[in-house]
Amino acid sequence: MSSNESLANLLKEHRRFAPPPELAATANVTADAYRRAESDRLGFWAEQARRLSWEKEPSETLDWSNPPFAKWFADGRLNVAYNCVDRHVEAGNGDRVAIHFEGEPGDTRSITYAELQREVSRAANALTELGVRAGDRVAVYMPMIPETVITMLACARIGAPHSVVFGGFSADAVAARIQDADARVVVTADGGYRRGKPSGLKPVVDEALAKPGTENVRAVLVVRRTGQEDISWTEGRDLWWHDVVDRQSDEHTPQAFEAEHPLFILYTSGTTGKPKGILHTSGGYLTQVAYTHHAVFDLKPESDVYWCTADVGWVTGHSYIVYGPLANGATEVLYEGTPDTPHQGRWWEIAQKYGVTLLYTAPTAIRTCMKWGDDIPARFDLSRLRILGSVGEPINPEAWVWYRKHIGGDRTPVVDTWWQTETGAIMISPLPGVTETKPGSAQVPLPGISATVVDDEANEVPNGSGGYLVLTEPWPSMLRTVWGDDQRYLDTYWARFENRYFAGDGAKKDEDGDIWLLGRVDDVMLVSGHNISTTEVESALVSHPKVAEAAVVGASDPTTGQAICAFVILRGTASEDDGLVEELRAHVGKSLGPIAKPKRIMPVAELPKTRSGKIMRRLLRDVAENRALGDVSTLTDSAVMDLIQAKLPGAS
Ligand code: ATP
Ligand code: MG
Repeated sequence: MSSNESLANLLKEHRRFAPPPELAATANVTADAYRRAESDRLGFWAEQARRLSWEKEPSETLDWSNPPFAKWFADGRLNVAYNCVDRHVEAGNGDRVAIHFEGEPGDTRSITYAELQREVSRAANALTELGVRAGDRVAVYMPMIPETVITMLACARIGAPHSVVFGGFSADAVAARIQDADARVVVTADGGYRRGKPSGLKPVVDEALAKPGTENVRAVLVVRRTGQEDISWTEGRDLWWHDVVDRQSDEHTPQAFEAEHPLFILYTSGTTGKPKGILHTSGGYLTQVAYTHHAVFDLKPESDVYWCTADVGWVTGHSYIVYGPLANGATEVLYEGTPDTPHQGRWWEIAQKYGVTLLYTAPTAIRTCMKWGDDIPARFDLSRLRILGSVGEPINPEAWVWYRKHIGGDRTPVVDTWWQTETGAIMISPLPGVTETKPGSAQVPLPGISATVVDDEANEVPNGSGGYLVLTEPWPSMLRTVWGDDQRYLDTYWARFENRYFAGDGAKKDEDGDIWLLGRVDDVMLVSGHNISTTEVESALVSHPKVAEAAVVGASDPTTGQAICAFVILRGTASEDDGLVEELRAHVGKSLGPIAKPKRIMPVAELPKTRSGKIMRRLLRDVAENRALGDVSTLTDSAVMDLIQAKLPGAS
């Protein structure tokens, strides 16, 4: 079909940014890593595994005798929490701050590695006292506070896989995840602070545990965070953290587990449908999160201050707040609240206060800051920043350039990192000291990673063409299965193409062979026989000075097959005047060609997003095609959909 040429030739982005010479000169990882990994991929990963402290060093790297069920470093034994905490203390870095915690109301706490070791030991002893044994699942439903990280590490320490459920989810979502993982203990808090108010968590757990299928939960451990008084209590089940954890010994001897011991279950965001319980294990996962954090963020643990703004309830929080940075001995910021509480400069104020050098956030946050205005970050001293990361969705070139200019002072590399809950760690990303970056492109698979773009028949596409993103070799932090459902693992990821992992994302290779993510395969539009990527039309809209955010879907159309339907959020000062829609259509036509001009453009106040901030195009498609909405369990705010529906009289 004509898909390849149209996918490939739409977007033209010629801006290039070379790595700053000082960064290139001292970078943790240089171009040589690609060559070493290329000549001996497994040898390269065996070398990376030696970043970790093993009780028993693995002699085997990959067992792929039963594909697609991988075993990495199978005869090695290690303790993940020991690697993230104790070994830094033993190496003489106990006084280094691990976590600078900033609560939304302004309370703060800095925790050194030595303190973290004592806290994690106490929590591990407490969980053991509650009868948690290696292999038992622990559900975690918490705000962004230090106890959350401590709980995850305590679980890892005793070999109990955690299942972290995002603190904004409803009782139904919590219950479904508790049931699916058959959790035995729940760790939660009375509440957390969101937008200046305490919001309850314990009441949601109570409601979840009243539902059938959750009877195996025998204890609920509750951190007092907000001090709300109306907390109901189930005797014999509910326990205060301060009653149980504080009296424990602050010593705990970590036991080593096999490299393939389960570390956690985490459900995907639900952007495309019902979330999947992704299983990650210990040795391979920790190897790759530690390596990628070292390589992509160029972490210098003695001098850097790192901040990942994700919630720990998402994979980004697991891999790049907890396991990667702590395995590397980083000093990091943990912030509880929202970016605009109490004012729209809160993030930049925090970055200035702690002298943040490495920042990792999502395109949705960057576009929101663009909407709020350039003058807000300009009020703060962000001069210590040296690398900016992006993850979660394709980043529109205009947002990328804004991020670099207004947050990074036009000096810092921006690394657009592509990966998924399933991949466990970053897979495709520039290296800040090596890659000449291109706004909007994740560009190159990291050393040791094999990714490419294929057509419908699984043939690799030539440079300049588009298709499906696939991973062609197993990688250490790959998911091991979908929890309790091997068949879904096979069907979702390994059935589309033989021996290749199907990521579900569309992508193209540019003339240099660099990879551009084009959004989900389900989101690609077919207009008059041409495949058009939602991402590219959105990026064209966002490159117009009046547009801050855009979401594009294909709605079925009697004449063109699908018609492009765009929902846009305007920038702070722009208004929805008469000529605007025509102006935007013309702008898209000029940037991408007349075929890509949206048939309808609707200015809206908000877009439907998952709780991790991703645009849920499938719901907009449901609206545009006059259907009942699909699964909305991971949607932030269902009122958004009512507003949008109200704007679309008789859409079809
Ligand atoms: P579900 O699988 O339940 O529909 P989800 O795919 O949104 O949810 P995640 O695992 O959190 O769940 O997100 C991974 C997806 O996010 C990727 O498959 C891709 O679509 C998108 N993504 C992440 N990072 C990038 C990036 N840098 N560029 C483009 N897309 C990205
Ligand atoms: Mg997905």
